[in-house]
Amino acid sequence: MSIINLGLQNVALKRSDMSLDSEIIFKSLGTIEDIRNASSFNQTLSEELKMAIKNTQKTLETRTERLKLKNQKFKCIEPAALEEINGLFEILGEKIDNTVTQNGTSQNKLRTCVDLQKFIKSHCLIQEYSFQIKKCGESDCLICDPVRLTHEIFNQLHYIPDPQISSNPDHYQDFDSLYGQNTTEKDIPSKKNHHECKELAPSGILVAARVRDFVFCISCSKLRCLFSQYVLDDSDYEALQTAMETFAYTCGSPIVPENHFLYDKVFVRMNLTCNLPIEQVYYSCKIEHSQICYYCGEEDNLVELLQEILSQFQTVYPLCEVCQERGKNFFTKGKIQM
Ligand SMILES: [Zn+2]
Ligand SMILES: [Zn+2]
Ligand SMILES: [Zn+2]
Repeated sequence: MSIINLGLQNVALKRSDMSLDSEIIFKSLGTIEDIRNASSFNQTLSEELKMAIKNTQKTLETRTERLKLKNQKFKCIEPAALEEINGLFEILGEKIDNTVTQNGTSQNKLRTCVDLQKFIKSHCLIQEYSFQIKKCGESDCLICDPVRLTHEIFNQLHYIPDPQISSNPDHYQDFDSLYGQNTTEKDIPSKKNHHECKELAPSGILVAARVRDFVFCISCSKLRCLFSQYVLDDSDYEALQTAMETFAYTCGSPIVPENHFLYDKVFVRMNLTCNLPIEQVYYSCKIEHSQICYYCGEEDNLVELLQEILSQFQTVYPLCEVCQERGKNFFTKGKIQM
């Protein structure tokens, strides 16, 4: 179990009550999205909700901050406030790229923001575990303010390196020996092949015909298939929707905690990691599903399928322009013998 989960062992959480009016409105709201929408129109509900979860947040914060990793205590930070998010987009628009909008931040949308892409190339480093921004140090840069540190110190500031395995394969190299070196992500734990783990689903369940719904991984935003022996009835389906909103799903974990009544009923493949493509059963399942890129799960900007490829293979999986630019080809199955 991960350390962060230890902090939540044997803890029950309950929010405080709101005014009767707000409670009545709240009862009629089903999903997190409904709640967000309603509170954006209803100031009282929004304020009362924030107050009602204060104690719960405090409890979670205290418990989390008692955890330690290598003698360092966990820290909780305040989530970004709406004003801060607005402020960030304002600066982005003014200084970097005025085509970036707050409701268009998918990878495919951002790819079309030319100036933003230039900025990311020259000032940022995006890695699996980190996003780093650094002044470029060019005196004619229109975005950065002049460097205030002395040049000797500024020139010694580097991006944080990636973890790299040392000569002993059980250990990583220490930070000091890597700082300032060119490193790659080849050794990060999530890129390593995980040991096969035992599936929770009984055999015969993880097949296209038993796909009943999908869940988004909050880490890689790929859709993963949910399976069950029988079609879910309305109440199970509703409970599943609530569970998916309550428990943030990430690849490789079960869909609900062990004590949930759906634990033995609804399954997700356990042998999944975020760097694995979309499951092939996604494309062949019987429930409604949209065409999404096999590698990243994007729905927009799919590369047009050429007749030439279609005629050579029984199955050709969708590919998006971003993945194609990164060197991926159409993933295919079943070469047709001519
Ligand atoms: Zn700059
Ligand atoms: Zn994932
Ligand atoms: Zn893609």
